[in-house]
Amino acid sequence: MKPKKLLSIPVLAVFIVMGFVYYNTVFVFLEDWVGLHSSVGSLNSLIFSLLAFFSLYSFLFCVLTDPGCVPSNYVPDEEGQCSPEEIHKNLRRCDKCYAYKPPRSHHCRVCKSCILKMDHHCIWVNNCVGYRNHKAFLLLVLYGALGSTYSTVIFVSSTLQKDWASQSGSLKGFYIACGVLMVGLCMSLITLLAWHIYLVTHNMTTIEYYEGLRTAWLARKSGQSYRHLYDVGAYRNITLILGQNMLKWLCPVSVSHLKDGTDFPTTRDSSS
Ligand SMILES: [Zn+2]
Ligand SMILES: [Zn+2]
Repeated sequence: MKPKKLLSIPVLAVFIVMGFVYYNTVFVFLEDWVGLHSSVGSLNSLIFSLLAFFSLYSFLFCVLTDPGCVPSNYVPDEEGQCSPEEIHKNLRRCDKCYAYKPPRSHHCRVCKSCILKMDHHCIWVNNCVGYRNHKAFLLLVLYGALGSTYSTVIFVSSTLQKDWASQSGSLKGFYIACGVLMVGLCMSLITLLAWHIYLVTHNMTTIEYYEGLRTAWLARKSGQSYRHLYDVGAYRNITLILGQNMLKWLCPVSVSHLKDGTDFPTTRDSSS
């Protein structure tokens, strides 16, 4: 846990946006649309509050959790390697940390250390997204996309039933600004969610996706098919990140399935 990670402008901006969207969705748009004391209003408020709570919970876990540093005593296991290329690849050393880098780890210039199964450094969580907080990051994007879509539906419903002829110009301006914010947030998070669903089902990090583009192109050029080394099947790929127990998939802090993050199943293990 690193509480000082919370002290960053983008992290504070996320808190402000979350608070703004939550307050306006429940106490302005929902109240305006059906009234908070009606049964429909209470039910919508409860569902939206749960989504907001889980978004915040995932966000805090993602910001405060160590993404996974390489153990100081890490030494590559050469016995399990199949080919000279694999031995060479796994004997990578970080020229900044002066230590071996496990497969899938990368050096983050912002965090100034090597991060296990690094996906990317995210300024919005002021942290790297790596082996230990990848699940929380995915759930943050999922709950954020669901919450912002829900909020946009409530906003549009409230807007459509309003008698705009009798409203002031400033209120119209406020609704237009909220509409731009809601639709922008919603579209961004849905796009991000779709992108990460693609990566998770192929067991790829963002870095590996870009690294793999050239390898895939070279393979295609020589008439071969390319498959990502860690893509061991969509369902297994998902369980490697979210865990074996489906009931715990949606809980950001349920990470007991994680190991030391230095060794990963590969397509070679599956085919052997
Ligand atoms: Zn390093
Ligand atoms: Zn980082």
